[in-house]
Amino acid sequence: MNFKSVIRAALAAAAVSAVFSFQALADYATYSSSGDLPAGSAQESSGTPGVIYAPGVTPGHSGTPQGVVTDYSYLYNNGNTAETQTPQAQPAPAPAVLPEQAAQPETAPASSAAAPAELPAQEPTDAASQQTQAAAQTGVDGNPNLIMSNGRAIDVTKPMVALTYDDGPQTNAGNRIMDVFARYGQRATFFMVGDRVSSRAAEVQRMVAEGHEVANHTYSHTYLNKVDAATIRKQVTACNDIIEQVTGVRPTIMRLPGGNKNSTVLQNVNMPIILWNIDTLDWKTRNAQSTINAVVGHVHDGDIVLMHELYDATATATETIVPTLVGQGFQLVTVSELAAIRGVQLVPNQVYYSFK
Ligand SMILES: [Zn+2]
Repeated sequence: MNFKSVIRAALAAAAVSAVFSFQALADYATYSSSGDLPAGSAQESSGTPGVIYAPGVTPGHSGTPQGVVTDYSYLYNNGNTAETQTPQAQPAPAPAVLPEQAAQPETAPASSAAAPAELPAQEPTDAASQQTQAAAQTGVDGNPNLIMSNGRAIDVTKPMVALTYDDGPQTNAGNRIMDVFARYGQRATFFMVGDRVSSRAAEVQRMVAEGHEVANHTYSHTYLNKVDAATIRKQVTACNDIIEQVTGVRPTIMRLPGGNKNSTVLQNVNMPIILWNIDTLDWKTRNAQSTINAVVGHVHDGDIVLMHELYDATATATETIVPTLVGQGFQLVTVSELAAIRGVQLVPNQVYYSFK
């Protein structure tokens, strides 16, 4: 049994409760971000922990949707953390931790990975829930390359990218973004600011209910390179605490506000640090077509795309980006899914830009 088979077996065995029901979502007043964020913070983003249905796992936190876990370690240690063990002790590949790149992410060159090109368009969305049921028995539709994760099937042999949205929650744009992802059966990652979470609880709960990754972007969007070690730890922990309190899911990845880091930051965040290699500059242009152009035709397998949840233009862009990428054969996955499927075990204080 190879590594992919181990992953598939582990996920398929547990793909039982893929569909959650959450109460009707409250509608919150439009969130104004004016003055909230530095206009020049091109490199910010936040990360949300992904959730994967693991074998035999029960919710570890009160309020966690049943079957949702954020611990991916079972993908790497032969299933030892899962109640239902995966087969024989097949040594997992050594985590291919990406070296920190010297280049600043916003200036990162276009990916050299092969373009996904002529993959057939995937079945649009609604198939996901049906596939979930099938996967519980045999994988998905008998296809050995399919795994179940966050309530839908992923083909580990086909191109996948992670679209990420920072600085939320922001109810209007956030719900529009989620509407699109739901329509096409795809998943996103939301790097959120902790002090905005409580007043938008229903939106954040919807993220979890619909299989998106909720991730940490500090408690108050503090530039961590400007504060001391104790403040760094407090900013990170407080954000995790509030997200867990509201959703039952504790983030497992974070993104530095502004992408700003120094040695103190890299010693005290104590979570995997997710940056990006495709910067849409949506915060700067506030123009949907510009954001679309930054992604479509430029994104490659394994890329992490930076956008921001704050802007209606970004939601509008998402309404084109998602169906276009799906039509080109891309699967839109959470950051944690992307890392796990690529065999990367995320390490605290390590910086990641993409998962090629
Ligand atoms: Zn930010």
